[in-house]
Amino acid sequence: MIAGSEDPASRAAWLRQELHRHSHAYYVLDAPSVPDAEYDRLFRELEALEREHPGLAMADSPTQRVGAAPASAFATVAHRVPMLSLNNAFSDEEVVAFDRRAREALGSDGPIGYAVEPKFDGLAVSLTYVDGRLVTGATRGDGEAGEDVTANLRTLQAIPLRLEGAPPLLEVRGEVLMRRREFIRINDAQRARGEREFVNPRNAAAGSLRQLDPAVTASRRLWFFAYGVIVGDDVRLPADRHSALMDWLASLRFPVTPDRAMVAGVDGLLAFFRDIGARRAALPYDIDGVVYKVDSIADQQRLGFVSRAPRFALAHKFPAEEALTELLGIDIQVGRTGALTPVARLRPVFVGGVTVTNATLHNEDEVRRKDVRVGDVVVVRRAGDVIPEVVRIVPERRQPDATGFTMPALCPVCGSAVVKPDGEAISRCTGGLFCAAQRKQALLHFASRRAMDIEGLWEKLVDQLVGGPGATVAANASATVDAVASAVAEDAAGPATAQVAPLVCTPADLYHLSAAQLCGLERMAEKSASNLVAAIDASRRPSFARFVFALGIRNVGETTARDLARHFGTLDALMRATQPELLQVADVGPVVAQSIATFFEQPHNREVIDALLQAGVQPQPVAWVPPVADAASAVAGRTFVLTGTLPGLSRDEARVLIEAAGGKVAGSVSKKTDYVVAGDEAGSKLEKARTLGVAVIDEAGLQALLLQAAGAIEAPRPIE
Ligand code: NAD
Repeated sequence: MIAGSEDPASRAAWLRQELHRHSHAYYVLDAPSVPDAEYDRLFRELEALEREHPGLAMADSPTQRVGAAPASAFATVAHRVPMLSLNNAFSDEEVVAFDRRAREALGSDGPIGYAVEPKFDGLAVSLTYVDGRLVTGATRGDGEAGEDVTANLRTLQAIPLRLEGAPPLLEVRGEVLMRRREFIRINDAQRARGEREFVNPRNAAAGSLRQLDPAVTASRRLWFFAYGVIVGDDVRLPADRHSALMDWLASLRFPVTPDRAMVAGVDGLLAFFRDIGARRAALPYDIDGVVYKVDSIADQQRLGFVSRAPRFALAHKFPAEEALTELLGIDIQVGRTGALTPVARLRPVFVGGVTVTNATLHNEDEVRRKDVRVGDVVVVRRAGDVIPEVVRIVPERRQPDATGFTMPALCPVCGSAVVKPDGEAISRCTGGLFCAAQRKQALLHFASRRAMDIEGLWEKLVDQLVGGPGATVAANASATVDAVASAVAEDAAGPATAQVAPLVCTPADLYHLSAAQLCGLERMAEKSASNLVAAIDASRRPSFARFVFALGIRNVGETTARDLARHFGTLDALMRATQPELLQVADVGPVVAQSIATFFEQPHNREVIDALLQAGVQPQPVAWVPPVADAASAVAGRTFVLTGTLPGLSRDEARVLIEAAGGKVAGSVSKKTDYVVAGDEAGSKLEKARTLGVAVIDEAGLQALLLQAAGAIEAPRPIE
């Protein structure tokens, strides 16, 4: 393959050909063949080669061009002013260099004022208004001319069709994008119809806009953000700063991102980059970086343009969330409820800011649907804190000896039969607590921070306590046999070595562990052993909701556990509940009700609960908040303190709701506080509330109070 050639001319030719091929798939077919990071890597290599060997640079090189020519299916629109690309930076050093170049070119002593915005991951469009009416909407195309998609753009609710107070000729530029929720909806629909799924929201947006039938575009609920203005030749811009132009666009009713800001100098740029980076996963749409623009329009004009991008702006890209790597093997992970998950073992790859070596393949059906085989080159995605996953394979890089995957018929950890009920995607080990992997996961879940919150019960220690192999085992046959043999040997015939004695079979056994027993285990010093015993001891009085969650009932997550705790109040009442009674609980449907009933019917589970109670674990029954006689005062006149991260509301949103209902939000807890609203990772304010005996409620409790204030329901109960 020429790809590896040492000869710069052939390497450059190969890179150009590859980049052209990828650009066609990306811009014309709206179906990229490789992740952006891979494209960017090849692009940068070509740029470097052309810099080193200027003779290799050609006018038709992808480094000299923008996008791709308009497709013939659409009429062509010539842009009055070219629609360019942006220069990219991937590191802080490149941003520092950009700022230095701009200061030198402008001869400025002080820091430059920059307008900064998220870099939306959609596609650029131009909207032309004549006498306040939208007359033309076009894609960027190759920068000189784009596709006429006026009829399609008219269907976007975010785009105004008529403007009040606009100059006679106004061109507004911005990004069309698809919000993530809509992307999931569209792909679900595509899958249900057996049609091609979109690779990412950017390509879904482009594919939805570049439709011959505007009705299809309309059905896709696209969004638009404006970020640029061009006026007719003899008209003055209504402002001399980019930031003020954005305010003006907002006053004309164009959607302009609320996440834009003004900053000074390079420190301001980098601080904004980190701030948006931290909020990236929480935004409802994809962004792939931030854009810095010199704010003064006069300075923008002085800085001007290079071949395909302005000198006054820079796109600072986030670490890519998708990357290419090789699939080295497929292991099986056995979960708490016996679910067998195929896990991809990968050649280590840097993606989403970390090195990833494993990624989930979800289940057997997904492996088949994506046709993933060992030896394939795969696209791995890691976005925010979400578990990395194998998104798809790169078919053209398939090796002839790539091998397919079959789910083993026996659990690779304990050797029990694996079942996959009809209509379900998940295969399960039937071993229950006989299976060391299930024991291990059940214990880890029981001890986890949001359940019994036992610090120091880390994974390797639990491996030793349950006396079995880890929960992830290679899926190939010989490893399976070995793993099963050793698991069975340990379970049936006792420990193979003195160290792997199963000290703990159920969560209740934890409460009988002594520091002396723990000290005998690997990497357990006296101090950590006594700390762990103390942590276990301290977990004996969990809230009822935490206790229910810790039991690990299938389909009962943290929220359902809280709802159950609130509804039934005591463990006895919950354990006695019939399915119809369970169905009375908000958000509990037949599947969840069945799971709960089945769980409590199992003699084994009742034994474990009894043993926990015997060991001194006392779930704290939920107490009622004294009902507020007058619904109008449920929130009005009361003082709330917000702490931790609420699942569905930002702090600001919660504050607005409370204040709108006449309540007050204070920054610190005192005797005068009526309620502390606690979310995840609530800290010292929660402690203080407990000390002072202030009622602690969660988000659902707050919502219930707000409903009560509106006269809709009775008073809620606190979670703790
Ligand atoms: P770009 O996406 O890096 O930057 C320019 C674009 O940014 C503008 O056209 C505009 O659409 C957009 N943008 C978003 N927010 C903006 C804001 N606030 N202000 C101004 N502009 C904003 O460059 P490009 O030339 O559009 O595309 C090149 C990129 O496309 C590559 O870096 C690559 O990641 C991707 N690409 C990928 C493939 C592939 O095969 N995966 C192929 C071709 C291109």
